[in-house]
Order: sequence, then structure tokens, then C-alpha cells
Amino acid sequence: MEKITNTQKKRESAITEIVGVSAEIEHELLENIKRIFDAQPLYKYERPKTSEEKLLIADLNGRMQEFVRRFGGSPISLISDHIHFFDEEKMTLEIKEKLKDSGGFFSNDSQEIWILPWPKNLLRRAQNIAHEMIHFNSWNSYIKSLDKATVKTGGFTVSIKGNKERIFETVDEGIVATLVKLFDQEFFRDISVLKSQVQERQDIIEAVKQQNPETDYSDVGYAQIKRLESGEDEADLQWYPQSDDRKYISILVEEIYEKNKLQFSSPREVFDIFARTIFTGDFKPVAQLIEKTFGSGAFKRIAEETKKVFKTSEI
Ligand SMILES: [Zn+2]
Repeated sequence: MEKITNTQKKRESAITEIVGVSAEIEHELLENIKRIFDAQPLYKYERPKTSEEKLLIADLNGRMQEFVRRFGGSPISLISDHIHFFDEEKMTLEIKEKLKDSGGFFSNDSQEIWILPWPKNLLRRAQNIAHEMIHFNSWNSYIKSLDKATVKTGGFTVSIKGNKERIFETVDEGIVATLVKLFDQEFFRDISVLKSQVQERQDIIEAVKQQNPETDYSDVGYAQIKRLESGEDEADLQWYPQSDDRKYISILVEEIYEKNKLQFSSPREVFDIFARTIFTGDFKPVAQLIEKTFGSGAFKRIAEETKKVFKTSEI
């Protein structure tokens, strides 16, 4: 049977399909998930959003719809209620410690995004929101087995061993983090509440470039002028997050491009095949390309190499 593509299906939540059930049961379960998607409570650890943040979310959502469609995905419209901001004052020490290295997360089960109170500035926070919005808009599927439905795929990742392991985790995170950078560089300058910070970042990069023209500044995600104790001003450049995950993808993409130059005109064309996979759930084009380039079994090898194994406490 021909697979119904993401663009043909009407999408009403982060979940695009439920595997292993009849069409009627799938419809019923998707209806339930839609109810969770629609009912977004204000939680104990959450703070209300400022009007500036609400404006930011509306702008990000509008641009994200266009961005997701470009890669063959079917976007879901998110309103500010779907994005929950942790209130630092109300977080326990234990929660703070557990989430200290995270910028945010997305939950399929509760159909919501959570954003951590750090970093403080709006530009970095916008990058974190865009990151989670891409996960939300990815091809997220459930599989029904025995009495419960569990996550089967989330973008490029596939859950195995009863959801205790997730293969392709680094691949998925690398693609998403790269997409955030592309999204920022294309759209952030047009988002009214981000304009001045994006301009400031550009101005600081230009100034630093004059002193060190050899350095590559394309990875600078945030820049500010810091006043030192001595009273002098110093440029503080911060990179886009997840450089290791992005590097994994860029090396893979570059190798594939080098070996298939007759087929592709740029590495970006290869990257787009990876990006389409997370939004369409169709692994065939990327799997074929990897096997053709590196030999049979290569796709499986990459799956293993980029696997995440969860500790019991994380499940
Ligand atoms: Zn992520």
C-alpha cells in the first residue's frame, strides 16, 4: 500500500500517525491527543509570559510554518499556551540541577514545550523555542502494542527496546540544531522583538572581524559587549549550541557530497535530504543514499553509533 505522506494527512497535534492499529482506532487515539493539545493548563512551575514573549512566539510560529513546508512537512500551528516558561523562583533545587544543561524540551505525551529560565536574553531564548518547535513539527509517531501507545519515531529518532533506547539521536539533534541556525539566519532579523539584538550581534561580529579577519564567525549565535572589572569593554561571542551534534551531521553530509558530486551541486542539497526525513518520516531516500555511498549495512552502523540509551530515571 502506498504510504500516505505527511503533507496529505491533516495534522492536529504533534503526533502524525499511530502504527499498529486500525484506521478507526488511530482516529480515536489522535482525537484524544488533540484534546491534550488543545487543553494547555498553567502549571505550578510556570510563569505567565510577557507581551513581548507572546509576540515572539506568534512570529516564530508563523515563520516556522513556512520553514517546515519547505522540507515537505505538515506544520502544526502553535500558540503561546503551548510554550511553557519555567519560573526560576518556583523551581526546586533538584529540578534546577537536573535541567541545568538544557535549554528546553518537548513532550509528545503532554503536547507541550518547556523553556528553561536560562539564558536570560531573548535572542538565545528564541533559539531554544525554535529548536523545540522543530521537534514539535517533526514526524512524531506512536506505536500501539498491548495496552498502551508509545513513541515509535520522533523526527529522525526511532525508539527501540520498549522505549529504553533511541537510535539516530545524534543525527536528529544535529539536524535540528543546524536547522535552528539556518532559521535564525533567515528569519530572526525580520522578527520585530529580535531585530535590535540581531543587529547588535552583526555589529559586534563586524568589529571583531576587523581585528581577526581570518576567523570564521558564521557560528556566532549570540554576541554582547561585556564590561570588564578593569573598566574596559570586551566582545563576548557565544556559539550556536550543540556544536558536536552539528559537526557530526556536517561531516556526514560533506562525505556524502564528496562521493556523489555528479548527483549534487552542494553539501546543502545533501543536508536537505536529511532535513526532509525528520519532517516526512520517510527514511527511504536517506537510507538509500547512505548505503550507496558507504556500502550495505552503513545505515544500521550509523543508527548504533548515534544511539542514546536512557537511564531508568530518565524514562
Ligand atoms: Zn533537541
